[in-house]
Amino acid sequence: MSALKQRIDSLLVEPGCATNQAKSDKARKEGCKKPLTPGAAAGGCAFDGAKIALQPVVDVAHLVHGPIACEGNSWDSRHVYSSGPQIYRTGFTTDMAEFDVIYGGEKRLYRAIKEIIDKVNPPAIFVYQTCLPAMIGDDVEGVCKAASAKFGTPVIPVNAPGFAGSKNLGNKLGGEALLDHVVGTLEPEYTTDCDINLIGEYNVVGEFWQVKPLFDELGIRVLATFCGDARYRDIAGSHRAKAAIMLCSQALINIARKMDERYDIPFFEGSFYGIADMSDCLRRISRLLVERGAPADLPARAEALIAREEARAWARLEKYRARLAGKRVLLFTGGVKSWSVVSALQEVGMEIVGTSMRKSTQSDRAKVVEIMGTDAHMFDELPPREMYRMLKESQADVMLSGGRSQFVALKAKTPWVEINQERHHAYAGYDGVVNLVAEIDKALYNPIWSQVRQPAPWELTEGWGERVAAE
Ligand code: SF4
Repeated sequence: MSALKQRIDSLLVEPGCATNQAKSDKARKEGCKKPLTPGAAAGGCAFDGAKIALQPVVDVAHLVHGPIACEGNSWDSRHVYSSGPQIYRTGFTTDMAEFDVIYGGEKRLYRAIKEIIDKVNPPAIFVYQTCLPAMIGDDVEGVCKAASAKFGTPVIPVNAPGFAGSKNLGNKLGGEALLDHVVGTLEPEYTTDCDINLIGEYNVVGEFWQVKPLFDELGIRVLATFCGDARYRDIAGSHRAKAAIMLCSQALINIARKMDERYDIPFFEGSFYGIADMSDCLRRISRLLVERGAPADLPARAEALIAREEARAWARLEKYRARLAGKRVLLFTGGVKSWSVVSALQEVGMEIVGTSMRKSTQSDRAKVVEIMGTDAHMFDELPPREMYRMLKESQADVMLSGGRSQFVALKAKTPWVEINQERHHAYAGYDGVVNLVAEIDKALYNPIWSQVRQPAPWELTEGWGERVAAE
């Protein structure tokens, strides 16, 4: 059995995954493989998932070993921000072509690594395996090892070729590369009793910067994020953290669990979306850190900060309450957002008519039931045709979803707000809730909706209805 196959099999039975734990032994052995529907967009390959998880490490060069289209597909697909280095936004690729299929791409990869070191000399290079070199048998790990030894720069193989599976599996394979080759390889310059890791925080549109000041004020140091606005050195020294918060359970649960086992870093699953969830995170991390040696007054200081920030957020939300109360929302997202955004919207009096449970774990489902009091509004699938029907029949006043379903909403002449990774507004923390509510308000009260819902001029001409019926 190949090393990649073994690695995939171990990830498919991840013991930290609540979905796995809820399965029978037989079902667990079969793993999480879900056959893809031919012709349907698969939602990204394993390579894409690994790239999404690791590209937010902003000071390393991300080198894609494969045809140029692989890099083209994945480059900058999320708006993850950096507070400093910009090298992560440069698309490096070996641009494999026909001759490389015949003669192999290892030399080409080695030359590309050397060229990157000569020209930009990053603290490390992440080399992504893709389908083509994996199929022709390029020894990417061997080349990375040789280049590391020769040039003295860490060259990290990320073995997640696209055919290995889904984007979510690729997230985890990216995490495995960090666990195998990066975490624990350097020591932090200093440590404190209040050092934490944030796992599954990608700093999409700068969301990390909305919560970091809260931690800073409490004296809690974010030693490393996996991987938003991260530096290579921070992740290499992240094994010295005292505790961790896992923010996107489906994506990097393997990192959280293995760092707990290997380095005794306890973690809990939290969310920065919504006032109640943000406060809950601050309370839980404060208590956990006190158990790990932090000053005993930390929870009291956290409570004071929570009281101040909640009051400030509620005051800012007040002007939207009357405008949004009773408005019906269709939420088509997944994972942790399926429940954390629900509670945020309920906080301003909106009604949730449906929330999708795609990519959600058993604990996500339990949280939806806890927040909404029923599972009646959860759905696993919502085909575009059904989504269109719901919106056309005005069963929702606004839809929150990713970019791919925006055209269904627009076709149904329904306000729509981008909430997934392509979003342009930051929704985390107390300020993020206000941003989200402001965006929903803008979408709902945009005057364009009353205009596009008017009949077109030609629809008012005599005989229009008959002519359409005749065609
Ligand atoms: S499926 Fe393979 S060839 Fe296609 S983008 Fe992913 S890694 Fe590249």
